[in-house]
Amino acid sequence: MAPPPVIVHEFDHPYLRVHQFPSPAEGGGEAVNSYLLEFETGLLILDLPLLDSVAISIRDYADQLNKPILKVLISHAHPDHWFGLYRFQDFPSLATTKTIDEIREQGANYLAFKQAQTTAPYDLPQGAIVPATSYEGGEETIDGVTLIWRNASNVEYLDGLYLEIPIHQIPISGDLVYNHVHHYVGQKDEQGKLCISHWIDMLNTLRVGPFNSIFPGHGAKGGMELIEDSITYLGALIPVVTEPGANEPQYRQFIKDNFADFDVIEMVDISAYFLLHQP
Ligand SMILES: [Zn+2]
Repeated sequence: MAPPPVIVHEFDHPYLRVHQFPSPAEGGGEAVNSYLLEFETGLLILDLPLLDSVAISIRDYADQLNKPILKVLISHAHPDHWFGLYRFQDFPSLATTKTIDEIREQGANYLAFKQAQTTAPYDLPQGAIVPATSYEGGEETIDGVTLIWRNASNVEYLDGLYLEIPIHQIPISGDLVYNHVHHYVGQKDEQGKLCISHWIDMLNTLRVGPFNSIFPGHGAKGGMELIEDSITYLGALIPVVTEPGANEPQYRQFIKDNFADFDVIEMVDISAYFLLHQP
């Protein structure tokens, strides 16, 4: 198996390596990031990708680091963040209760949806693995590095966690922030209301954080301007997707006119499906 593309970000005092695995933007990978945090004595995995081939190569890479995998944390219930758990079933896995419930109830449907949608159905896991243990966030310290897991709900996703590492002044934002990739804007809350406005409110609180750079859910690492960019993208889309009579051709035309150079057009397909064709 070829080694996966990996970008290693190094921090010292205390020791931390953030290994970022960007899935391909083409061929169903959705440019999603999986992260492996390497501490002095152990490893923690944050999210596992949609494509089985990428998950296998992350597993090989992790095994070669020769440190124990302490746990796998799944940020939220969208398939591009947990399908790869299939290759990491032998480790403790955690997610919020709502994430676990959604994967338990919808995981097999998500897999069937992706199998129908993708050009490479053979590159998907053979089953939906539900994270084992509920975790709603909190603080922990591993080898001198303090991690703050924060909960966010009714944002890009229904409910989930993101990570702040204050001593190195970084958030690993999960899908709260994207970088030059079409955002998934189809999420609805439990009352059926679109989450996009609440997502923007949440980003406005994130941008006052004491951060130097940000690790997004999709696309390359960047500076704090990524938060601003996501706010701009979402703000521009609100009238297009929420106005009465909103329809798919209009949405697609708007994307074409305003964000033509963004990656992962499938994200527009998926958004359109859940926004405009699902109750
Ligand atoms: Zn995602």
